[in-house]
Amino acid sequence: MNGSTVDENVPQFGQTKLESVEFELEVLREQNQLHIQVLKRMPVVQLLLVLGIALIVFRAVELRVLVGWGMLTVAAECLRAAYAVITTKRIDSLGPDSVHIQLILLAAMAGASVGLSSVLFMASISLPNQALLVIILFAMPAAGVSVAASSRPILAAYSLFILAPTSFNWATLYPHHTYTVAGLTSLYWFFIISVAADGEQLLRRSVAIRRERDRAVKDLERKNAKESAAAAKAEQISLSRARILATASHDLRQPLHALSVYSAVLASNPAPDSLPEVACNIDRLVRSLGDLLHGLLDLSRLSAGYYVPERQRISLDRLVDGICNEYQSNADNKRVRLIRRLEHVRLFDDPIAIARITRNLLDNAFKYTDQGHVFIGTHRLDGSAVLFVEDTGKGIPLNEQNRIFEEFYQLDNPEHDHGNGVGLGLAIIQRLCELVGAQISLVSEPGAGSRFSVLFNSVVTESSWNRVAMSANSTRLQGKRIYVIDDEVDILDGMRVLLNLWDVQVEMADSPEAAGSLFKQSGIPDLLIVDLRLRGEVNGFELVTRLQQTHGQFPVLVVTGETSVEFLDQVDFPLLHKPINPEILYNAACRTIDSLQR
Ligand code: ADP
Repeated sequence: MNGSTVDENVPQFGQTKLESVEFELEVLREQNQLHIQVLKRMPVVQLLLVLGIALIVFRAVELRVLVGWGMLTVAAECLRAAYAVITTKRIDSLGPDSVHIQLILLAAMAGASVGLSSVLFMASISLPNQALLVIILFAMPAAGVSVAASSRPILAAYSLFILAPTSFNWATLYPHHTYTVAGLTSLYWFFIISVAADGEQLLRRSVAIRRERDRAVKDLERKNAKESAAAAKAEQISLSRARILATASHDLRQPLHALSVYSAVLASNPAPDSLPEVACNIDRLVRSLGDLLHGLLDLSRLSAGYYVPERQRISLDRLVDGICNEYQSNADNKRVRLIRRLEHVRLFDDPIAIARITRNLLDNAFKYTDQGHVFIGTHRLDGSAVLFVEDTGKGIPLNEQNRIFEEFYQLDNPEHDHGNGVGLGLAIIQRLCELVGAQISLVSEPGAGSRFSVLFNSVVTESSWNRVAMSANSTRLQGKRIYVIDDEVDILDGMRVLLNLWDVQVEMADSPEAAGSLFKQSGIPDLLIVDLRLRGEVNGFELVTRLQQTHGQFPVLVVTGETSVEFLDQVDFPLLHKPINPEILYNAACRTIDSLQR
């Protein structure tokens, strides 16, 4: 027997009230179930008990009393067994606490029927038989420990109704034993109940372990589901890459083949009057190849995560208005009206991404609209901003509205004629939206036009707008020593002027050798801005690695016009893609310096 309290065996740390109530109910349910299982076998045991007691008392008591008691006792046990059978079927729908109370009452009844034997027979039998009967009756509660299945209340009720009448009768027959009997019976009663308490501890511990195991299994299942989802996504990405590659190689081969045909035509000295047409066709093919390659490069840059959105304060309406101006002549030529309704909205977002989204949407709107209008607008909506482009063009059937965002998916262009676009515009828009955290949606009907809407969550209020403005105008770079390494003299000159505007001490180097001497003479800078592609054998990344090995760590910002994923993969420093907006450069410089100081 151990003296620990019940609660010590239940995991308590971090357990909520609800969890501990659930735990108690589960323990109760477990006790009920175990007890109910045993009860189904009890009538047989009870019959044997009745026969045993009958053997001791049948000579001394009236037969009808003995038979009556025997029937009553077996009937009480049969009632418990019947209750167990009925309850087993409905155990999940019944409240565990009410079932437990009913089991306690039934145990009291069964105990009382056994205890009744002492009242009925004790006075009539001989002293040795009295002793034998009392021994049997006192042994019953001990046997009840296993039947009660670790429930102290059930055992207490059962044993109390056997021990109390038995001890009372003994004390009545032998009054001089009264105190001894009362003391020993109480001691015995407490002892068997504490044995049941030990069993209850064990049960609680096993329920706690089972709950812990169930929780671990659930966690594991959740993790597995996450991993399977990630694996499915990776599989989907790899399938989509394979599809992109297959379509791209097909789409590249077609114009290349056409170009080789035209080069054969040119080589065979064609008639001079056919030359303008050939030149025009070659121009069209080269343009479409260019479009396809640009689209693919953009897509690969976006997919590989090499495009890092540079957020800054922008007026969405002004940005969109400027882009609309570019499209005005397009609209006039097509005789499609370009209508703008631009509500003033301020965002803290990436203007390059948003401009690209707007241009791609306008391109499509004009491409697929032959008459009517293209309506572009910006407005606020519940704390977000919406940019929409609506047209009166041919519209898109509902069952195609998801697929058009896939790479190379085009409607009405089964031949992949690149004069009609390459099928990457919406895929690029989708990627850009994911990058800047915007959501794109489409409402369209064939023949009734389309409306693409982009929802931005980066709206800035007047006060946060002022805060952003202040931080951009701050003097965080003032007095910092910045080295610039680039082999283009024009770029070096431009950077010197720009950095001087920010009160920075600038040093320039136009080759790895010049950079080496600069570091030797002046030590490490607060920030090094280096071009990735340098003339000669060493690239900017390798140069920085060497310099850091010789002179120690310093913050580095790499600028590049490079798009090759394999090449960019080697670069372990913050990257900016050319052309670089000064504000983006300023913010990136501050961030890079801060990140190494932290
Ligand atoms: P592209 O325009 O180069 O074909 P996109 O990815 O931009 O590629 O568009 C995919 C397809 O979606 C287009 O081929 C076209 O069928 C359809 N689509 C896109 N925008 C519109 C629009 N505004 N109206 C009708 N159809 C559109």
